[in-house]
Amino acid sequence: MSIRGAKLYGPSPPSDTMTNWTLAPLERGVEFVCPNCGRSTIIRNYKARKLGISYKCPVCGFEGP
Ligand SMILES: [Zn+2]
Repeated sequence: MSIRGAKLYGPSPPSDTMTNWTLAPLERGVEFVCPNCGRSTIIRNYKARKLGISYKCPVCGFEGP
């Protein structure tokens, strides 16, 4: 039973730092702190990793695969 027109509110799912592809609950992804400065959390979508899209730390600008 659902209420027509109701919207779900809640914490938004994490999305890939560079591509903004949202991680599905069961989708493989990885979340880690920047290996260079350790001050930002980088979220990597499995699909983005597979495509070889590199990430860039928004804090220090560190780029990695
Ligand atoms: Zn960094």
